[in-house]
Amino acid sequence: MNILVINAGSSSLKYQLLNPETQQVLAKGLCERIGIDGKFTYKPEGKEAVKEADVAMPTHNEAIKAVLDALVDPANGVIGSMKEIDAVGHRVVHGGEKFAKSVLITDEVMAAIEECNPLAPLHNPANIIGIKACQALLPGTPMVAVFDTAFHQTMPPAAYMYALPYEYYEKDKVRRYGFHGTSHKYVTQRAAAMLGKPIEELKLISCHLGNGSSIAAVDGGKSVDTSMGFTPLAGLPMGTRCGDIDAGILQYLMNKYGMDIDKMLNVLNKKSGVEGLSCVSSDFRDLEAAAAKGDSKADLAQKKFAYEVRKYVGSYAAAMGGVDAVIFTAGVGENDKAIRSMVCAGLDFMGLKLDDNANDVRGKEAVISAADSKVKVLLIPTNEELMIAIDTAALAK
Ligand code: AMP
Repeated sequence: MNILVINAGSSSLKYQLLNPETQQVLAKGLCERIGIDGKFTYKPEGKEAVKEADVAMPTHNEAIKAVLDALVDPANGVIGSMKEIDAVGHRVVHGGEKFAKSVLITDEVMAAIEECNPLAPLHNPANIIGIKACQALLPGTPMVAVFDTAFHQTMPPAAYMYALPYEYYEKDKVRRYGFHGTSHKYVTQRAAAMLGKPIEELKLISCHLGNGSSIAAVDGGKSVDTSMGFTPLAGLPMGTRCGDIDAGILQYLMNKYGMDIDKMLNVLNKKSGVEGLSCVSSDFRDLEAAAAKGDSKADLAQKKFAYEVRKYVGSYAAAMGGVDAVIFTAGVGENDKAIRSMVCAGLDFMGLKLDDNANDVRGKEAVISAADSKVKVLLIPTNEELMIAIDTAALAK
C-alpha cells in the first residue's frame, strides 16, 4: 500500500510517499514559498536524483500538482500512475475535543476540523487548504486526518483542566490539549516493542526534545499528562519559546515597555527559550560550542533546559506511580548525548542510571541505561510520517 503523507503549512508543504507495511520511503520532498514564487524539492529514495526547481505555486493546488507530477514522472518518478497512491494521510495540528483518533475525512469531518480553527489559527487553516487541494487533484482517493492533539485526549480532567473559572472551559474550550501526539504515540509503541512487553503493561515517559519540545506521561499506551498546553508555548523552554512562566510577568513587562499583547507573545514565542537565555542560538549544537569556549549564558541555557526536563521526568513518574522507561526522541533527544546525560544525572534515587558508553550514540534505536538500571532509558528516533501512514492505511482499508 502506498500512502502519500502531507504536512501542509501556510506557505510550505512537506510530503512523503511511503509503504507502511515495508516502511519503505519511495520519495519525499518539500514545497516552499507557496503564494510567493515557489520552490520545489523532490528526492526519490535510492536514486541520486534530487530535483530542485522554481515552480510557480500561487496556491497549494499547484504545489500538490508539482508533487504528483514528480511522483509519476517517467525519468525520476517512483510510481506508474496516480492510481498507485492508495490513500493520503494529512497531518492536522488541532482536533480539539472532537477528535481522539485519526479519522477518514468526510464533509462532516472537514466541518469539524474547521470548527477547531480558532484553537490553532495559524496551522489548521493551512492543513485544511492542503486537504482540499489533494481532494481536487485525487478525487476518489481516501483521505485521512491525523491530529497532533488526538493522542492526548485520554488525559484525565485533573491533568487537562486549568485552575481558571470553569466557564472558560465550558464556553471557550480553554484546557490543556497537548501536541506532538503522533510522535509520542510512535515512540511509545516502539518502546514497547524494544522492551518486548505489551504497551498496556508499561508506564513510559516520552521526551520529544527538538526545536519544539514536549514530554508525555504514557500509562498503558494512553497519554495521561503532557507538558504543552492550550498552545504549544507551554511546558519546557524550547528553541525560542519560553515554556511555562509566571503569567504576572506579562503585565509587568507590557506596562513597563508599552508592549501590546501581540508584541509580548512575539517575545515569548520567538525571542525566548534557550536562544533568549543564551543570547547565542536556538540550536543546541551552537550552545554546546559556545559553552565549550566558556560562554556562561550558553552553559546556563543548556543547564536550565536539562533541569526542566529532569523535573518533568520526576513529576510524571510521581503522576503515574512509577515509570518503566524514559524515551528520548527528536533533534536534541536523538543527537545530544550531553543533554541526555544532564537530564539523567541524579536520577539514581528513582532507579534510573545512564550508561555513558551506551549513551555515546546518535539517531538510532538503542537502550542507553546501565544494565542494572531499574528504569530503562531508550533512544528512539521519531517517525511521524510513518505513524501517519500506518493510521492512514488502517483507516483506508
Ligand atoms: P527537530 O525540531 O526535532 O527537528 O530538532 C531540531 C533541533 O535539534 C535543532 O535546532 C538542534 O538544536 C537539535 N540538533 C540537531 N542535531 C543536533 C546534534 N547533532 N547535536 C545537538 N543538537 C542537535
